[in-house]
Amino acid sequence: MPIEKTLVFLKPDAVQRALVGEIISRFERKGFRILALKMLELSESFVREHYATHRGEHFYEPLVRYVTSGPVVVMVLEGKNAVQVVRDMMGETFGTESPPGSIRGDFALSDRYNLIHGSDSVQSAVEEIGRFFRPDELVSHPTDGLRWVYDMTGTEPV
Ligand code: UDP
Ligand code: MG
Repeated sequence: MPIEKTLVFLKPDAVQRALVGEIISRFERKGFRILALKMLELSESFVREHYATHRGEHFYEPLVRYVTSGPVVVMVLEGKNAVQVVRDMMGETFGTESPPGSIRGDFALSDRYNLIHGSDSVQSAVEEIGRFFRPDELVSHPTDGLRWVYDMTGTEPV
C-alpha cells in the first residue's frame, strides 16, 4: 500500500463538544503525520462546492447549514493507505451504525452531526487538499520520525 495524503475536517459539533484534541490524538497515535492544520469558518459557497456530489439529496441543505454553523478544524494527514484507514477510523456515516472503537461509534448518535469528514478516495483527497490548502501550507517532516512506525530499512515503508 502506498503512502497517501488525505483531507480531514472536524465539523462544528466536534469543536463545540470539545472533541478536537481527542480526535486528533487518535490520528497521531495511529502513526499519521499531520502535514497541515488550521481552524476556520467555511463559507456557504465553499461548503456547497465541497459537497457538490450531494446536491439534490434530501439532506443537502441541512448539511450546508450544519457545516457552516461554526468553526471547523481542517488537516492533511499522511500515512500508509491513509484514505481508507482514516475512513475506517471514522466509522459509518450514521453514528448509530458506527462500530464502537471508531470515532463516530464512540462519540456520535446522529445521522447528520457525525463530527468528522474524511476524503473517500485518493482522487477526492487530491481535490479536497487543493481546495482547503495552498501548497506552501503543507510542511515536510524529516523521515527519521517514522523509523518506529514502519519498517524503513528497505526501499519503501512496510
Ligand atoms: N448526511 C445527512 N443525512 C444523510 C446522509 C448524510 O445529514 O442521510 C450528512 C452527514 O453529516 C454526512 C454528510 O452528510 O457526513 C456527507 O454524506 P456522505 O454520504 O458523504 O457521508 P460521509 O462520507 O461523511 O460518511
Ligand atoms: Mg462522503
